[in-house]
Amino acid sequence: MAEKRNFFILFFILLIVTPVFFSVLYPSENPNDVKNNVILIVWDGCQRAHLLEMLDSGDLPFLQSFINEGDYVDMELRDVNRFDDGHKTNTKAGHATMLTGYGYSVHGVMANVKFDPVPDGLTVFERLELVDESIETLFIGSKRNVNVYNDLQRTFLVDGIEVPTIVVIPHPEFNETRIIYYGDDRPAGVFHNMRFDLDFLFCKDDLKLGNATDIAIEQLAKNVEDQFFMFLHYKYPDRKGHAKGENSPSYSNSLIELTIELNRLTTTLKNLGIYDRTFIFITTDHGFDEGTKYHYDDPYIWFIANRKLTGELTWQVDVTPTIYDAMNINWTVFTPVIEGRSLLAKFD
Ligand SMILES: [Zn+2]
Repeated sequence: MAEKRNFFILFFILLIVTPVFFSVLYPSENPNDVKNNVILIVWDGCQRAHLLEMLDSGDLPFLQSFINEGDYVDMELRDVNRFDDGHKTNTKAGHATMLTGYGYSVHGVMANVKFDPVPDGLTVFERLELVDESIETLFIGSKRNVNVYNDLQRTFLVDGIEVPTIVVIPHPEFNETRIIYYGDDRPAGVFHNMRFDLDFLFCKDDLKLGNATDIAIEQLAKNVEDQFFMFLHYKYPDRKGHAKGENSPSYSNSLIELTIELNRLTTTLKNLGIYDRTFIFITTDHGFDEGTKYHYDDPYIWFIANRKLTGELTWQVDVTPTIYDAMNINWTVFTPVIEGRSLLAKFD
């Protein structure tokens, strides 16, 4: 009897010890099973040269330490030889490119006042939801130019009648032409087609810098158990550039303020215990014409991550595949073929 009991005790000890033993032997699951998060932060209209000058002169110590632990790469808006006839250096076009992985010829957004909504299903938000519905997609924007609705009234003549409407002409590869009418008074914004796919949407024109972070922190706390992709858009330093000029002290000050917000965010992620599995990417939608209050043509942007990156010269279309890569999603299967490449170089 005693022997039988000893046998059972031994059996149960083995039952408990064996998995522990093997998990020590083979630490962590398959890296492809790790549910990484991504936060894509946009500092609207942040000129590369201005950013680098401030880093060089030690004015952005927190960002410098962030880069030291991760990486910085130069980026440009478009590679005209490779895939595109170019998009303008402004907010709508820049965001359409970085959030789809396609250039103008696919997403159809040329400029803030020359655009159709990005065709249905192309954005990183929609595709993440399609691949895995349990992924939380969170969108925080501070400008109508990135919104799913557009504050500007647009009317079109349809059969001789003027109606508020948006005509969506998708890429020829989609092989269909759709005309969508909107009877309400909120004509479509650049990301109109993904409005029902998002798990969280907060977009307000003129959202204050700190408020955007507050909303982000609130959402991080809510989704601490989930895998998520968060888009967090700040309207700075663009706004200061238009008001005071690219070389103004207030343009520089807003960069300092943005790094304070970045610090708040990383501190929150560390306190929540999810910093290690959260990729943070920071970029801008366009540059700023040197010393001016406008950005007619400054395609020289940049990309910063809390991870090591590959590539010396990168393109704005690379942002999307990099997001997919971080979340272990095979983006090479999407059609049309994603025009960018991953800066993490896993599926290349
Ligand atoms: Zn601007």
